[in-house]
Amino acid sequence: MALKYTTIEDLQSAHAELRKSFQARKTIPLAFRRAQLLQLARLFQENNDRLMAAHNSDLGRHKLEITLPEMGPIVSGAVRAAESLEEWNKPEKPVVEEWRNSWDTTVYTTPKGVVLIIGPWNYPFVCTILPLIGAIAAGCPCVVKPSKFSPASAQLLAELFPKYLDTSVYRIVNGAVAETTALLELKWEHIFFTGSGRVGRIIAAAAVKHVTPLTLELGSKSPVFIDADNTDIELAAKRILWGKQQNAGQCCMSPDYVLVPRAHQDAVAEAFKKAYQKFWPHPKGALDPSSELSSILNQHHYGRIMELLRRTEGNITHGGNADGLKRIEPTLVTDVRLDDSLMEDELFGPIIPLVPVNDVLDAIQIIQARPVPLVIYVFTDSEETKTKFLESTSSGTLVLNDTFTQLGIHEMPFGGQGDSGYGSYLGKFSFNTFVHRRSYINVPPAFEPFLGHRYPPFTEEGFQALSAPANIKIPDC
Ligand code: NAD
Repeated sequence: MALKYTTIEDLQSAHAELRKSFQARKTIPLAFRRAQLLQLARLFQENNDRLMAAHNSDLGRHKLEITLPEMGPIVSGAVRAAESLEEWNKPEKPVVEEWRNSWDTTVYTTPKGVVLIIGPWNYPFVCTILPLIGAIAAGCPCVVKPSKFSPASAQLLAELFPKYLDTSVYRIVNGAVAETTALLELKWEHIFFTGSGRVGRIIAAAAVKHVTPLTLELGSKSPVFIDADNTDIELAAKRILWGKQQNAGQCCMSPDYVLVPRAHQDAVAEAFKKAYQKFWPHPKGALDPSSELSSILNQHHYGRIMELLRRTEGNITHGGNADGLKRIEPTLVTDVRLDDSLMEDELFGPIIPLVPVNDVLDAIQIIQARPVPLVIYVFTDSEETKTKFLESTSSGTLVLNDTFTQLGIHEMPFGGQGDSGYGSYLGKFSFNTFVHRRSYINVPPAFEPFLGHRYPPFTEEGFQALSAPANIKIPDC
């Protein structure tokens, strides 16, 4: 399907209109934000079938794999944000030193201003709309720029937005690099970007010019460790294979490679084969025409993944086939070394490399030596192993005993660290992204007698009095 690009003039005038609306404080009343959030929930609920069909035509994903990570979190997230607005926006009264009690010290949350959200193709709704929920809740007018590689989804959002949302404050802009570059030349009060590290760096460089705060939700190689002596290997294999086959591995949270104690590699490989047979009992396995396997986005990525498989020096012990329709069979590769082609970059495809390690410490050292991942997955029942990972590794999220589970939990932040990006979202964390916490202080005239020491001419007595905070007793360790 052909995506209608927004003209440069139109995106510039949208930006100008949003700024005007913000200056007119249109998004300030909570009743306005609540109505818009509920409208957003309605947009997704009332057009569920059309949105799922557009998504399917872009990416060929089964409806279960659309509703679970996309429609559910969006509708429930928008409603929960609408219900939480009062609480999130409540001014905070910090506990201050007693002598400042009369100063009415308050922390207000104020919207940052007009913001931009740029999304990837692989989750064409959730990666743009969950941040948008935060922007609406915060009171920020927003332009959303979906990816051109999910054109039907992007076009439908452009059609539905004006029917449900106030277009003087919320807009969809569609386009490719030229349109995104034009957007980045404009001034925004926050940019929320989800995508690759390569483009993330371009966005960061553009944001610097206007000193624009930025959230970067990037891809990464998310490792898995199977603590084979302390876990149910078959359950681990089933959950990893399920996470990996989601969208054919084209997911930022996809379990990328699996570190497994050397002595257990064969048992783990067997467990994967067993899970595969249960998932795809069809005559031709996962590539059977009746299976629900997702396809790879385009020929470029299809070729890239097949080339990785061609270059690997590991053993392809299961799978490795493709059907000529951009579908690649979930493929298990054993005895993968750290310098293998499969360990070069985020796989973003349905390959499961098994990397043999000596033990848990070896696994941790391998993870520590590589870029900080978005997620680390650990399969273990051992408290000792859990603690070792918690204390000795860094990642956006640490998930025990499952894969791919976080987007539905609105109460926890989701976001990368280090090489996998910075900033976070979901629920109140999305709201926090788009607000400024503004301190408010009122020093009453009646306080004047207590301020006398600060005025010239300075005196020794005044110096001693005002030095008191620097001279407080420091507690013993
Ligand atoms: P991408 O970086 O190629 O594109 C992301 C967005 O940037 C798109 O809207 C695209 O139009 C725009 N863009 C592309 N080139 C640009 C340029 N030169 N200048 C300005 N804008 C440009 O990413 P993608 O291929 O759409 O998505 C896949 C990547 O996104 C993977 O690395 C994946 O892991 C990552 N991702 C991360 C998360 C997360 O939450 N951390 C979620 C989904 C996807």
